Amino acid sequence: MDFSLTPEQQLVQQTARAFCAREVVPHAREWDRAEELDRELVAKLAEVGFLAGWELDTVSYCLVMEELGKADSSVRGIVSVTVGLVGKTIRRWGTDAQRDEWIPRLGSGEVLGCYALTEPGSGSDPASLVTRAERDGADWLLSGQKIFITLGTWARMALVFARTGREGPRGLTCFLVPTDAEGFEARPIKGKLGLRAQDTGELFLDRVRVPDSARLGAEGEGFKVAMSALDDGRISLAAGCVGIAQGCLDASVGYAQERTQFGRPIAGFQLVQELLAEIAVETDAARLLTWKAASLADAGERHTLESSIAKYYASEVSVRAANAAVQVHGGYGYVDEYPVGKYLRDARVTTLYEGTSQVQKLIIGRALTGENAFA
Ligand SMILES: Cc1cc2nc3c(=O)[nH]c(=O)nc-3n(C[C@H](O)[C@H](O)[C@H](O)COP(=O)(O)OP(=O)(O)OC[C@H]3O[C@@H](n4cnc5c(N)ncnc54)[C@H](O)[C@@H]3O)c2cc1C
Repeated sequence: MDFSLTPEQQLVQQTARAFCAREVVPHAREWDRAEELDRELVAKLAEVGFLAGWELDTVSYCLVMEELGKADSSVRGIVSVTVGLVGKTIRRWGTDAQRDEWIPRLGSGEVLGCYALTEPGSGSDPASLVTRAERDGADWLLSGQKIFITLGTWARMALVFARTGREGPRGLTCFLVPTDAEGFEARPIKGKLGLRAQDTGELFLDRVRVPDSARLGAEGEGFKVAMSALDDGRISLAAGCVGIAQGCLDASVGYAQERTQFGRPIAGFQLVQELLAEIAVETDAARLLTWKAASLADAGERHTLESSIAKYYASEVSVRAANAAVQVHGGYGYVDEYPVGKYLRDARVTTLYEGTSQVQKLIIGRALTGENAFA
């Protein structure tokens, strides 16, 4: 497979780099400390075209995600959720009316959406979720609770996965729910280890009424809708992790060349070079796995396995790289004067969300053996 970038892809990469240098990097530490992002950034992300990322090929989209991941994972998450989990899912499963209603508004940053699958009692096992949707005449009434929802309090629309039928995956249906509907409440979750600037919310639904035209996909197809979103979401998350790892490498090489101990730059010590070499090799490998999955998506081929491999590897690499980067920085890595401590905190969630590393291994194992270890 040829992984050289086309001139168009290189332009996307340069645009993303320039945008991050101008609009994100100078503010990232301040947003992290304040646990709040400047909302004006949403309009800027839309203006540069990133919130309509479905118009890019997947490799180009990954280049944007890598740059945003390197600059600030909280910002990367805004684009990831809007484009990957929400926008692409509505484009794939929505009716013409649903696409017309939401896609232009999402792409222009007029509204943000969120993807509400996880519940207090169901994370890795979403097929066991208990939020219910019951028919009431021509409408549906939704009741239940969702937790850890990215953009949960910023979103004007939520993709809510609810049980409409029997137990297990075939009893789920997805709904497009306006968050200003009566009975819908979103509360922020604060005090996160990382992604501090990113909005994460808890959602409460108490007999929220939506018409049948708010159903996304057929009744009973909700699990398929949810999983198709994650197939794409995992590629972009992997790209964001590559960005974290690359950021760790760049910061560590720079620091190692400047910092002197024992009368010479620490870059000259073999054990420091070992730390740098390991970050470099793993970052490159993670990038290639990500681009492989992205290329399959662009070719219209099934990529569940490759997305899981890329997500599993790149997320673990981002944690290892950030940990090694703190080591290279010594005590200075432990305070937020340098970016590496934040990289470590932001990286940590990536092996947990959109399927934990254990879940990715089970997906990979199932593809290899035909045996389903989930059941
Ligand atoms: C910051 C943040 C943002 C998030 N954003 C969203 C969002 O936008 N939308 C959304 O729906 N969710 C979101 N999530 C939720 C996230 O996807 C879940 O936290 C994740 O799926 C894990 O579920 P859990 O936390 O319930 O852990 P659990 O499923 O309880 O897992 C706990 C541990 O058990 C292990 N485990 C579970 N089952 C198995 C098994 N069969 N075999 C081996 N090990 C197993 C897990 O790997 C993990 O180590 C977010 C979470 C965070 C922290």
